[in-house]
Amino acid sequence: MLLDTLTCRIIEWLDPIDNNNALIVRELIMSDILNDVLSANRDYVDDFGDKGELPMPPGRNFAILTCMDARLDPAKYAGLAEGDAHVIRNAGGRASDDAIRSLVISYKLLGTREWFVIHHTDCGMEYFNNEIMSDLLSSSLKTASVDADGWHDCCEGPGSTEGKYINWLTIKEQTESVLEDVARIKASSMVPSDIPVYGYIYDCKSGRLIEVPAATEAGQAS
Ligand SMILES: [Zn+2]
Repeated sequence: MLLDTLTCRIIEWLDPIDNNNALIVRELIMSDILNDVLSANRDYVDDFGDKGELPMPPGRNFAILTCMDARLDPAKYAGLAEGDAHVIRNAGGRASDDAIRSLVISYKLLGTREWFVIHHTDCGMEYFNNEIMSDLLSSSLKTASVDADGWHDCCEGPGSTEGKYINWLTIKEQTESVLEDVARIKASSMVPSDIPVYGYIYDCKSGRLIEVPAATEAGQAS
């Protein structure tokens, strides 16, 4: 973060040993995002009401596995309030080993009985593959850019070769990825057969959840 000249002068002028001054310095160098988040949290706390009394197990006994995409708000698109359901999010909403770890904890210790896998239209995971990602990381750790010719690194290195050892779980086609993930969850020996897993695609243009019938069929309870 670059500090403006006035802010730098104020920080130099303040005695950093003094606790009050240390707090002022911290306020001065906080990013706008950090300030905004903490301000929003203060408002949230003001209206927190009796939510501190909520029990840990989700009250509506279900879990959603979905993508981290910023356009998706599961609390809104699925009508959730605090305490209702588990929401497990990662890039793509993929049934990674870690997502399955969370789902197993979700039912085994916290009692969920129905699960959703929800991918979405225009997912960022459709725009690259393992090779592209590992190549980009190899050349630079700065944010890459994309245009009609594909992804480009705009900056110098150093990069990292670690990306070559990761399966990034990218997506070629959403109905296939939803089916694949529902099937993987159902195939886990740690998942009881009586938990249904529903497969859906969230449409980013309308907010609608669209069923992937083959996935829901594969995810039937038995
Ligand atoms: Zn996504």
